[in-house]
Order: sequence, then structure tokens, then C-alpha cells
Amino acid sequence: MPLLSPTDDLHQILKATRGIAIKLCKGEAISVINLHGNQVVDAWAVNLTDASECSAMEHTRSINSNMFFDKGMTLVSNLRRPMLKLIEDSSPGRHDTLLCPCNGAIYKELGCTDYHRSCTDNFHEALAEQGIRCSYTPASLNLFMNVPVAEDGSVQRIPPRSKAGDSVTLLAEMDVLVVLSACPQDITPINGAGRQPSDIAWCIHPLPAQD
Ligand SMILES: [Zn+2]
Repeated sequence: MPLLSPTDDLHQILKATRGIAIKLCKGEAISVINLHGNQVVDAWAVNLTDASECSAMEHTRSINSNMFFDKGMTLVSNLRRPMLKLIEDSSPGRHDTLLCPCNGAIYKELGCTDYHRSCTDNFHEALAEQGIRCSYTPASLNLFMNVPVAEDGSVQRIPPRSKAGDSVTLLAEMDVLVVLSACPQDITPINGAGRQPSDIAWCIHPLPAQD
């Protein structure tokens, strides 16, 4: 499956700090392109016909027997059913599965006194635009997020290892809504040392034509 370059006409832009829910049918794939190389993208999958089935990071770590998410691994639901498979990855990999999506409480802890956009709000707003309400916030798959784990179990939050143009491609194993959030974090260096959230691009690879 050829990857589209960031300059390809078929790609679409998700603006920095924003979220989107994208319908993906079984057999279709989506590429997420890190245009500037340093942007973390929180990702979820929600069953298109039953929003009570969502991607579940605890089951994903269990099924893959790994705390990171690398090429060949499958994102599974709370029912342990395959939702998305990582089939291409031009980045150095090591996508985080451990840390929570940012929310208003985190930005308060970090000293924000005014409203600050968050991946949690992006998740719920993107689903609401599709007429779906989720009563809780599932843990996110944190694409490009660099969270090394030391032997004593401590974790670091450091800038992504990806470079501009790196991309991942996820194949739908069922009909899903893929929710993406271009993480608005601009206080810690998780989106790069410049602490500047940036746009990302995405595109859908359609189903192969049937004979
Ligand atoms: Zn975030």
C-alpha cells in the first residue's frame, strides 16, 4: 500500500489542537502524517454501530504483550476484538499506550487558569459531531508520543523521535470511527522542545476494487 506524501492532494489537514472523528470501513486504512515531526496524535477507535465498544489500551497491551504499540500490532476493544492494525510505520515507532489523554484537570495542575483545549474535549466534541455521546473517556493510543520506561518503572515525557513527514497507517478490522486529536499540550515538551502544537495530515486508503 503506497503511502501518500504530505504534499499529496488527497490528504486532509487536522489543525493543531483540534480533533476529528473519521469513518473507516473494514478493509480501509488511514494514514496519519506527522507534518512537522513533533506532534503527538491521541487516537481512539469506536465501533461504528455500537459506541459502547471502544479501543481499550489495557487489553491492547495484554493481547500484544507489550507496553508500546509497534508495526504489526493490533488495537483491540474492551471486548478484545481487533479494531485497527498498524500496518505501516515510517517513524522510529514506540507509540505510547500508557499515559492518559490530557484533560482540563491536567492543565489546571500545570497552572492554567483559563480554558485550555484538551485531547479529552477533542474526543467528546468529535464524537458529538457524529451524534454519538460517550459517558467516559477511554485511554488513548498516543501516536508518536515518546514515553520511555525505566527499569524502576518510572516514565519520562520527552519530545517525539519522529521527523517531519513520518506517518503511520492503520487498517480497519471492523467498521469504526477513528478519533484523532492533535494534542494541544503546549506546557510540557511532549509535542517537541518548542512546545508548539502543529497541524497533522491524514488520508484514507479505500478498499481495493473488486473484480
Ligand atoms: Zn493531549
